[in-house]
Amino acid sequence: MMYRDHLKISDMKSEKMRNYDAASVIADAERDAAYVFEKLDKICEFNSYKVINAFRECGVSERHFSSTTGYGYSDQGREMLAKLFSCIFKTEDAIVSPHFASGTHTLTVGLFGLLRPGDKMLSATGLPYDTIRSVIGIEGDADGSLKDYGIGFLRTDLTDAGKIDIPRVMDALEKDDTVKVLYLQRSRGYEIRPSISVSEMEELFSEVKASFPDICIVVDNCYGEFTEEREPSEVGADIIMGSLIKNPGAGLAPSGGYIAGRKKYVDRIAGRFTSPGIGTEIGSYNGSYLPFYQGIYLAPHIVREALKGAVLASGAMEKAGFGVFPKYDADRTDITQAIIFDTEEELTAFVRAVQKASPIDSSVVPYAWDMPGYADKVIMAAGTFIQGASIELSADGPIRPPYTAYMQGGMIYENVKLAVRFALEDLAG
Ligand SMILES: *Cc1c(COP(=O)(O)O)cnc(C)c1O
Repeated sequence: MMYRDHLKISDMKSEKMRNYDAASVIADAERDAAYVFEKLDKICEFNSYKVINAFRECGVSERHFSSTTGYGYSDQGREMLAKLFSCIFKTEDAIVSPHFASGTHTLTVGLFGLLRPGDKMLSATGLPYDTIRSVIGIEGDADGSLKDYGIGFLRTDLTDAGKIDIPRVMDALEKDDTVKVLYLQRSRGYEIRPSISVSEMEELFSEVKASFPDICIVVDNCYGEFTEEREPSEVGADIIMGSLIKNPGAGLAPSGGYIAGRKKYVDRIAGRFTSPGIGTEIGSYNGSYLPFYQGIYLAPHIVREALKGAVLASGAMEKAGFGVFPKYDADRTDITQAIIFDTEEELTAFVRAVQKASPIDSSVVPYAWDMPGYADKVIMAAGTFIQGASIELSADGPIRPPYTAYMQGGMIYENVKLAVRFALEDLAG
């Protein structure tokens, strides 16, 4: 079972009230959320200045948008993107590339770059995201997993309160000196558990650093960027990684991922990303880098839109009697919003409503399918400009109880609001 005892689904549901009026439910939810929106505006302002100042400090200029070919020696666009992300995330170095095929690919390159046969990684946030399990070799039978290369995996689960179990993590590190990577996943992914805030990470990281300075702390930062004023790299994470078709690409970057952190670790990863001995000296892109720069520039703003959408969806769906996690007024550290239904039919209706509200392929009717890398069938709404971009309005849910839709994204708040209205209308009895 994916959800934890402390978060019994039944506790999260109020009495079903089926004869609601969708428009007034939304108006009420929006009114209640006004003060939450103000908090999000402050975070957006802080992060926007952080990003603009990084552009100014790095001296980004029109020449950095130009395409290159072949090996891409001294490709200025590539080099500046790395510098810019380092400046924003306050790291020594970064790899930012359109050639990462997905978030999972980015994380795969990072982990294979850092770990060697005989090493172990320890996940401090329990079982990692579905697709990463195949990479590690703890689910499915994918050839070439970390396990195939003799790299082990340990995990400590979150406590009943949904927090990192710091004493258990420290104990596990104490007992096994082959652990070289301490891994955390910031966002809940497809689980009903709290996401891990940056201040919670800070507490763990300072303890780990004090006793085990040579362990590389790695954070899967997917969905988390710019939801708080600080990133995990500002509180001691040695490497953070994420997808450019999520938060930091703002729906404009057409593909890619980033890896940012301490130089010695980024160098190791760079040897795996291209070739040992070559690292980030090469890599061309025969398309314009412009959308990557525009994406990171807009990211704090787009993330705020997505967060506002998640807050509204949470408030409105709860008022209509559905289970929601987190609640509309909770502090957030990622853009995902879980909505919990009683049946597969309700989950399906919700996901279809999101598709119907989307700008692209609104007439497509989603069905559950066997998605590569996922153990259960997954139904997803992805009426996005960039294929599968989940910083754009999207919703997906594995077909397994508790029937939960994970919705996220929305480049404009108004689009999320429309989706919530369609969903409430279609779900009304
Ligand atoms: C999206 C995501 C990934 C994987 O990214 P893909 O682009 O889907 O491969 C990994 N971890 C988390 C927490 C994610 O949200």
